[in-house]
Amino acid sequence: MANLLRKIFLADLFQGLWVTFRNQNPKYIYTEQYPAERPKVAERYRGAPRLNINPDNDETLCISCNLCAVACPENLIVVGWERNEQTKRKDLTTFTYDTSRCMFCGLCEDACPVDALELTQDFEMASYTRDGQIWDREMLEHGPAPKAYRS
Ligand code: SF4
Ligand code: SF4
Repeated sequence: MANLLRKIFLADLFQGLWVTFRNQNPKYIYTEQYPAERPKVAERYRGAPRLNINPDNDETLCISCNLCAVACPENLIVVGWERNEQTKRKDLTTFTYDTSRCMFCGLCEDACPVDALELTQDFEMASYTRDGQIWDREMLEHGPAPKAYRS
């Protein structure tokens, strides 16, 4: 009988509406003011890739071992290098990273033995072209320069 009365008088509907209207109170409404204010992302967020450079001598930390490229399930990293005849080491020449195919799984940064490749908390990676999503070494080392909007 109680169930029947609830159905007749649409009690569930009004109960739901009450929940909705109760949460319309302005003190519960939260609007991100992006891009005026950059939102905080989670500490473990994996975003824009960065190829780290040594701050002491401005040289890349990458040793051209290619482990990141091998670890990537999408095969989107291409590491270019040449043998330095004096040091007998590999010198990094080019590094390309196709962000359009990246799923930000982090396997590449985990594979890097010298912490040269890192997925940062930057999330502003939009581009007007597909080519713009393929980041070269310079872009990876210095990062994107998103437009700063001011009100
Ligand atoms: S985050 Fe994953 S998909 Fe993206 S480059 Fe690294 S390994 Fe490849
Ligand atoms: S794994 Fe690290 S050191 Fe090796 S090529 Fe990739 S970024 Fe460079």
